[in-house]
Parts: sequence; C-alpha cells; structure tokens
Amino acid sequence: MSQKNIIVAGGGGFIGGHLVGALLEQGHTVRSVDRKGFDDWYQVHEGADNVVADLQGLDACMAACDGMDECYQLAADMGGMGFIENNKALCMLSVLINTHMVLAAKEKGLSSFFYSSSACVYNADKQVNEDVIPLKEADAYPAMPEDGYGWEKLFSERMCRHFREDFNLRCRVARYHNVYGPHGTWEGGREKAPAAIIRKVITAKHTGDHTIEIWGDGKQTRSFMYIDDCLKGSQDIMHSDILEPINLGSNELTTINGLVDIVEEIAGIKLERSYKLDAPKGVNGRNSDNTMIMDELGWEPGIKLRDGMERTYRWIHDEYMAKYGG
Ligand code: NAD
Repeated sequence: MSQKNIIVAGGGGFIGGHLVGALLEQGHTVRSVDRKGFDDWYQVHEGADNVVADLQGLDACMAACDGMDECYQLAADMGGMGFIENNKALCMLSVLINTHMVLAAKEKGLSSFFYSSSACVYNADKQVNEDVIPLKEADAYPAMPEDGYGWEKLFSERMCRHFREDFNLRCRVARYHNVYGPHGTWEGGREKAPAAIIRKVITAKHTGDHTIEIWGDGKQTRSFMYIDDCLKGSQDIMHSDILEPINLGSNELTTINGLVDIVEEIAGIKLERSYKLDAPKGVNGRNSDNTMIMDELGWEPGIKLRDGMERTYRWIHDEYMAKYGG
C-alpha cells in the first residue's frame, strides 16, 4: 500500500486513537484532530500531527483536510445508551461535523472519505425481540432509527452517498456494531456496556461490596466487536469497491447477563445481581448479519468476546487501580 497523508477526525477518541497508531505503524503520515484538550485524549501518538480543533466549523475542517489524501471521519458527540438516550440534540449536532468534513474533503480534493456510521441506523421494529434475526444492510429502510443519534447517522450516510454520486468523492461507510477494547471510556457516563460492566465488577472486587447493578433485565442480546477487528475492517472497507453502507460487527451473540458471566469469570468472582428496569437499555436484541462483508471482503470480525474482554479487563483494571487503588 502506498504511503499517504491521512487525517483521522476524532483521533483523541477511542477508535480514532487506535486507528492513528495503526496508520503510523503502516508508515503513513497522519494528522489527528479532536476537540478535547490533549490531557483528555485516550492516546496521543508522538509521530502524528496532533491538532486540537472543533470540527463543527467549516474553517476548522478545511484546515484539517489541507494537504491530506484520505480522511477517516470518526468525530462525533456520542457515548453508550445512557448518553445517547438523554442527549439527543447533542448527538444530532454531529451533523455539523459530518457536513463540514465531507464538504472540506471535496473542496480540498481528497481521494477518499470514510464515515463511521452505526447499527443505531437500523429500524427499531426489527429489534424488538431478544431472539434476534441478524440485521441486514437493507433493514435500515423504511427508516425508523434510534431517535437522535441514529437519525443523524442515517442522514450523514445519505450525504456521503450523494457526495459520491454528485461530486465523485470516493465515500465509504461502515455501520459499526458495539466496538470495545482498551484506551476507551470506562467511567463518567459515556461508557458502553462492556467497559461499564468491567468497571462495576472491578469496583465490587476492590470495595468488597459484592453486588452489581445491571441496566434492564439483562436479557437484551447484543454482539460486540474488538477494536483490532474494527481497525482491519475499517481500512479494508476504505480500500474496497463497496459503495453502500456495510455492517462491520461481530456476530457472536450474547446477552448482557452473559457478558457479566464472562467478566465475573475473568475477575474470579460471583456477584449478586440487581436489575434496574427503568435504566436506558436500548433495543431488546441486535446482531450483525455478515453475509455482505463475507461476500465482499471474504472476512468478518472474528476475535472471540472472551479474549477481547480479557484484554479490555486488564487495561481498565490498571486504570482503575492507578486512580482508586490507593
Ligand atoms: P469517542 O467518543 O471515543 O470518539 C469520538 C471523538 O470525537 C471524541 O474524542 C470527541 O472528543 C471527538 N469529537 C466530538 N465532537 C468533536 C468536534 N466537534 N470536533 C472534533 N472532535 C470532536 O467514540 P468512538 O467509540 O471512538 O467512536 C468513533 C466513531 O464511531 C463515532 O462516530 C461513533 O459514532 C462511531 N461508532 C462507534 C461505536 C462504538 O461502539 N464505539 C459504535 C457505532 C458507531
């Protein structure tokens, strides 16, 4: 693969931080841009051109894309269910980032633009049962996505499509299904289920209070993709001929209770479970249908949940002990 100048928007975030590292290792020149101050970036890679800028504004996006060949657009105001169910307007404001980034990519003549969409674009009616039929790409329409966050993602997908069709900008769109791994949010309200459960188990072990609160009845079904699979899939999709939005997710289905079982086993502890039935819990069931990615790339995310959770547990454990270990 030839060496390129690549901008990662949202490079101070979880997936962006890992992607910047991977691209640098491959020998690319990378510009990493994020709104947060450097102290809040999960990873600051010395080899990158690290920039703090708010990409909601067009001028900042034009500066970010200047001299670049490719863009991975990962910047978004987002978090787990607790965040997106209670911050719909903030989630929708990410439309400013997506609109201005894709416009800047076109104006600055970038060759390719990758957009990180989400399984939250899928029609809610197809996700009412825990006993799921995995979601195929076509299931996004007729549209009835997650309110706020999902509508913004669906709109931005369509915008990428029309920039490709009308302006010949090479846009690629992946619909991520729950990504997890080290160097991501694990406390504070934006964390997702894998990190939240790991933190709760570590806290229970550390404090001696052997209870755990689970959001919902624990029977919700989900799949979770380890970060390494996300990085490979994102880059493969970027360099593929896949024109339509495509699922990028694991199809190893688990319940939230099953996820707690895994973390308890890693931690070597059994906890008393209580269920907070009025907490944000998202749809009842969701899984990724990987027929299209297998057809197109001959590959699908395959890192086992148990293995990825073990690696994530170790990282969060170190972070927790550094902060609260005393
Ligand atoms: P993250 O929150 O860790 O990273 C997003 C980054 O964007 C943050 O560092 C944030 O500061 C930055 N950002 C927000 N507003 C900005 C602005 N105005 N200007 C510049 N930077 C800004 O999230 P993540 O998990 O790394 O997700 C990356 C992308 O993947 C997002 O678009 C997200 O919607 C999408 N996605 C993630 C998942 C997942 O499970 N992690 C699932 C589906 C889709």
